[in-house]
Amino acid sequence: MEAWVNNDNYLNKHLVKEPHMLAKATKAIRATTLPQMEVSPAQGKFLYLLAKIRNANRILEIGTFYGYSTMWFAKAVPEGGIVVSIELTEKFVAIAQSNINDAGLSNKVKLVQGDAAKILNELVENKTEPFDMIFIDAHKPSYPEYLRLCIKLSKSGTIICGDNIILDGELSNIDNTNPKATSVRQFVEELGMCEAIESTALQTIGIKGYDGFTFSVVK
Ligand code: MG
Repeated sequence: MEAWVNNDNYLNKHLVKEPHMLAKATKAIRATTLPQMEVSPAQGKFLYLLAKIRNANRILEIGTFYGYSTMWFAKAVPEGGIVVSIELTEKFVAIAQSNINDAGLSNKVKLVQGDAAKILNELVENKTEPFDMIFIDAHKPSYPEYLRLCIKLSKSGTIICGDNIILDGELSNIDNTNPKATSVRQFVEELGMCEAIESTALQTIGIKGYDGFTFSVVK
């Protein structure tokens, strides 16, 4: 575990080169008692690069927290592009908006406060233009519902990533009937059965411990 952290810090220093305003936002969060549930710098840069490869103009994020991955996405989209990020907790929306303003990225981000499933349903009903990339990183028991709605907000070529799917190694333990575990398993299995999507997943280690994410592209 110590080696995972040291190597992640080494990679951050030499390759990731986390932007100052993002590091500053994380430092401020560490001074609070809030959980460390944002993506790592290396993962944030990975999402940023994926968005760039995809030439993403429209990115949807479910789960903002303090805006860490939101800011990586905002750095990836060109002028005129938009990151729509949904967050349930009002306090987090306020913190994220402040961070995004400080980073000079407010023209590329729209934060939406509320229940993600409800807001996604509204986006579908309003026939919102499809997104180029979608990052699912919120309430785990809702992952299957988020997925079904996100597919409706996608088009051919849309990238869909589902974060934190390894659950401390419990993902494949069918004896674990905790709603988090059963729902994330259902999410993974639905992705596998969805004929409109091609998927894989990667397990990760680093400063966030042992984790992983799904990676899918809409056909
Ligand atoms: Mg996450």
